[in-house]
Amino acid sequence: MGDAAARREALKAVYEQASGCTRCPELAATRHSVVFGAGNANADLMFVGEAPGKNEDLQGRPFVGAAGKLLGELLEGIGLTRDDVFVANTLKCRPPQNRDPLPQELDHCQDYLFRQLELIEPKVVCTLGNFATKLLRGDPTGITKLRGREEVRTIGPRTVRLYPILHPAAALYTRSLLDTLREDFARLPDLLALDAPAQPEPVEAEPAIPEPELLAKDSDDDDAPPPQLGLF
Ligand code: URA
Repeated sequence: MGDAAARREALKAVYEQASGCTRCPELAATRHSVVFGAGNANADLMFVGEAPGKNEDLQGRPFVGAAGKLLGELLEGIGLTRDDVFVANTLKCRPPQNRDPLPQELDHCQDYLFRQLELIEPKVVCTLGNFATKLLRGDPTGITKLRGREEVRTIGPRTVRLYPILHPAAALYTRSLLDTLREDFARLPDLLALDAPAQPEPVEAEPAIPEPELLAKDSDDDDAPPPQLGLF
């Protein structure tokens, strides 16, 4: 991907597209907003959580509740802020009553995540908890076994260092897990200091999400990212 501004524009276009998504009729009918993701479009580090909860759905931004506060504190502990990273979820819409994402919903939504990976080009993708880890590894092995072990994985269009860790919400329920989370966060600076893994040969394929005519969309504030995208 080209320069930072081009990246932001392209991400904005995918956001516009996602914000009208009706692939999952139940989620489209019950959501207040599509929680696309927020943060730095040029981030080397991207976090992938599970799905928006009530607060995220109301505010249109990921990790704004207690788990998000803890995520911010953990980042601060390694000298980073939310503005240094990009945060997204496996699902962009809140499942009603915070039920688990359904396999078909994960399948419908994964193209948006792949586009985000393709555009942001993170070196390290940190999956938070079971859903993101299982989805991005394409394997049912659980987080307890995998946490804190990085591996080079190709996820859709991008090869990254995948680093599964516990979901911060787990440490809110079980305080003893906070030390585990801190320990796993402490490895992140070393992972970020490594070279990005070699990328796969690009395959010319039809984009799973058709290229949006939104790139050429008429808009009053073409330069300003939508507020839901946070600081870019
Ligand atoms: N938990 C998640 O997995 N994602 C959010 O956006 C908020 C809480």
